[in-house]
Amino acid sequence: MFNNLSEKLDQALHTLKGHGKINEVNVAETLKEVRRALLDADVNFKIAKQFTNTVKDKAMGQDVLTTLNPGQLMVKIVKDELTELMGGDTVGINLGGSPTVILMSGLQGSGKTTFSGKLANFLKTKKTKQVLLVGCDVYRPAAINQLQVVGEQIGVEVYAEEGNQNPVEISQNAIKHAKANGKNVVIIDTAGRLAVDEEMMTEISNIHKAVNPNETLFVVDSMTGQDAVNTAKAFNDVLNFDGVVLTKLDGDTRGGAALSIKSVVNKPIKFIGTGEKMDAIDVFHPDRMADRILGMGDVVSLVERAQEQYDEAEARKLQKKIAKNQFGFDDFLNQIQQIKKMGSMKDLVGMIPGAGKALKGMDIDDDAFKGIEAIIHSMTPSERSTPSSINASRKKRIAKGSGTSVQEVNQLMKQFDQMSKMMKMMQGGGGKRMMQMMKG
Ligand code: GDP
Repeated sequence: MFNNLSEKLDQALHTLKGHGKINEVNVAETLKEVRRALLDADVNFKIAKQFTNTVKDKAMGQDVLTTLNPGQLMVKIVKDELTELMGGDTVGINLGGSPTVILMSGLQGSGKTTFSGKLANFLKTKKTKQVLLVGCDVYRPAAINQLQVVGEQIGVEVYAEEGNQNPVEISQNAIKHAKANGKNVVIIDTAGRLAVDEEMMTEISNIHKAVNPNETLFVVDSMTGQDAVNTAKAFNDVLNFDGVVLTKLDGDTRGGAALSIKSVVNKPIKFIGTGEKMDAIDVFHPDRMADRILGMGDVVSLVERAQEQYDEAEARKLQKKIAKNQFGFDDFLNQIQQIKKMGSMKDLVGMIPGAGKALKGMDIDDDAFKGIEAIIHSMTPSERSTPSSINASRKKRIAKGSGTSVQEVNQLMKQFDQMSKMMKMMQGGGGKRMMQMMKG
């Protein structure tokens, strides 16, 4: 996410951090580079200029020149300003109303339908809401179809009216349907066009007036940079929407949209989309994003994701198994699956402070576990639960079955063995024993 911007900001601030003495000249030089980094990220010229001016004023106000650690202070000021630029505080969506009506707006291809599904899934699983998805794209039957596929995938009902060409009517009927069927959230996916045009604006504006949504979200493809900002402005003029959803942040986005949109329309970014799958949705936290942009990682989100996957009963069961020396390859496989549920490897690594820079240029493989999984899948159930039974001939068979080599099987067995020993020791409160083992 925003790799290029991160790198350039790092370089800009590095110069300052490296200097023995800091003076007004190299502060100015640094800020010039920061501004260039922002412009390269496709941030609007005026916003970039204003940004560096504010940072400069704050830096001078706090006497950067005389503090003990001017580099760090500058990083902090830049971080705070980036956070402000992206909206400052985290803003949630309004779930009031009975039912809550959420209207989606945006251009065709921005990711509206995908996001409608993601949000439905998010509300259903995290807030235990009963959601109804509504297909209002009366021009493209394929769009309704797409929504139905999404709905099926996440187990959420989709309301559509074949043959009805009136989206206002459809959305009103959908709300009635929701009330009659115990749904407390209605998400209306609307028709988009490839570019802003009057007809589309009139239509969405009519739906907006008719359903009076509790939350109107504008969905925009972050890859479109400055165009995203212009489109946001056009939609906001008509809808006065409540929040922005930035999609496709998993791609090679430069960051311009994320950094400029709040200043231009004065509406918060509420969610981001980070992939095509239904769970690739995140609440937008300006401060965490600023940390990520500055290469400081996002430990809070990482821990949150781990917690989401944490199941206390499962953990207890595992603990007992370890204590009884019954931790087998099936449990190992289970653990890998838990990690995979936390997100893509690239995404997770990006949350570790400094990892982005340290692993720069390295291909972070989302299939990192594939080999391990294949090996374990090639074991018989009894081999999985009693790894010690895996002798040389079994290893050969497992390697063949998994398309790996005996060496790779051996390596996994060794890692597994070390891990089991370690876990057993931690369990037994054997800190002392562990120290002894480390000393060899
Ligand atoms: P709509 O026309 O606005 O409804 O857009 P769609 O929901 O059909 O999305 C357009 C394309 O973008 C589809 O191929 C989606 O799979 C893809 N897409 C949507 N959101 C994301 C995202 O966050 N990341 C990625 N990589 N692709 C996305």
